[in-house]
Amino acid sequence: MDTSKLTKFYKKNHQDKITALVEAGVISGDEQSVLMNESLDLNAETGDNMIENYLGNYSLPFGVALNFIINGEEKVIPMAIEEPSVIAASSFAAKLIGSSGGFTTDIPKRQMIGQITLKDVSDKLAARETIKRAKRSILDRANEAHPSIFKRGGGAKDLEVRILGELDNPSLPSFLSVHLHVDTKEAMGANIINTMMEGIAPYIEELTGGTALLRILSNYATESLATAHCVIASHTLKTGRFSGEEVRDRIIEATQVAAIDPYRAVTHNKGIMNGVDAVVAATGNDWRAVEASSHAYASRTGQYRSLTTWDKNENGDLVGSLTLPLPIGTVGGAISIHPGAKLAHSILGQPSAKELEGILVSVGLAQNFAAVRALVTEGIQKGHMGLHARSLAISAGAKGKQVQQVADLLKEAPHMNLAAAKEILEKI
Ligand code: NDP
Repeated sequence: MDTSKLTKFYKKNHQDKITALVEAGVISGDEQSVLMNESLDLNAETGDNMIENYLGNYSLPFGVALNFIINGEEKVIPMAIEEPSVIAASSFAAKLIGSSGGFTTDIPKRQMIGQITLKDVSDKLAARETIKRAKRSILDRANEAHPSIFKRGGGAKDLEVRILGELDNPSLPSFLSVHLHVDTKEAMGANIINTMMEGIAPYIEELTGGTALLRILSNYATESLATAHCVIASHTLKTGRFSGEEVRDRIIEATQVAAIDPYRAVTHNKGIMNGVDAVVAATGNDWRAVEASSHAYASRTGQYRSLTTWDKNENGDLVGSLTLPLPIGTVGGAISIHPGAKLAHSILGQPSAKELEGILVSVGLAQNFAAVRALVTEGIQKGHMGLHARSLAISAGAKGKQVQQVADLLKEAPHMNLAAAKEILEKI
């Protein structure tokens, strides 16, 4: 990839941006035609086969965030997102973090969890031991229920049994939950695991004497945790009236607030998900799964907290990290069907599911850095409203060159709102 061709990318017009991506080796000539012909949408036949009562496509802007260096490799990151400032913030953060070496990632394991929840188990402690003793035959039966994933080198690898509720308080509801840890290889694995769970449920019922109430994947992907780290030299953080050390310390303090206050933590983590969701959606993955899993992980201590940590090392550098449970894949679901998802995987260089996890968690860390840095220095509105001005101009009815004209005048106006945008449009 020749990223020198992407210099001042945001200043280029639509066509020149696409040409620059071809020249940089990010997209092929065929992909250039797809973008030039605005044919990222699903065709009606595919859409009709994907969902019930299909009527048409509902599109989101598709763009790229630049400047990412992940494990020493330059990456152009596709995003599907309607919020104006996300790509700009992400690219800005990646550039600054890249000047100190970029992101490193750590993904020790990639397994998804399937869950069979049993009711009416009379002796849960005895049933738990029976299940543990039968582990090998349960794993074998799960693999027989979905042989193709086993043939790919994946399949059910481990088993865990949990008693839900309080054994010594029979007036409260309690259940027995059997977890299977499944290596789903490149797939997110929802359907693979659901098939396995339904396949082994009768055997688990036989072993425990209980009734299988629920047989499904758990979206809480705690066996698929991905971590991104970055180390940022403090002097690169200097901005406006703030020294680099002051910005560093304010970022650390703002993260301390998000570690103890759920009201702040929700917004802090929403900023992380701005970037993560945009890439999850662009790559055709299930963003509801990633959202649900991430927020559960933020509450793992019993209180909802910041998902990122920011601290300083002995050299005075700002050190950041983010860990997310990531139930995602690079095959299956909409990934090989949706033209936008296919293009997104191609832009990323056809990463493996593990690599995609590393990309997602790095984007989340970048996005959090950008948001918190802006918040503790100039405030979020300057950059955000600057980009929002164009959306207001379009809402007011501006077309073509008028959009930028109205947006520029709107930034100077005492109030940046739709009424002001309409007034400016009438005048020009
Ligand atoms: P699929 O059902 O599309 O299954 C993926 C299939 O891809 C595998 O079964 C496998 O089939 C094939 N495959 C090809 N190459 C590979 C490879 N290298 N590694 C692994 N599999 C490969 O998708 P998932 O099971 O991943 O399920 C994801 C979908 O399920 C998403 O659309 C999601 O929205 C949806 N879903 C999500 C739920 C949730 O709770 N989050 C619940 C239910 C559905 P084979 O080996 O036979 O070729």
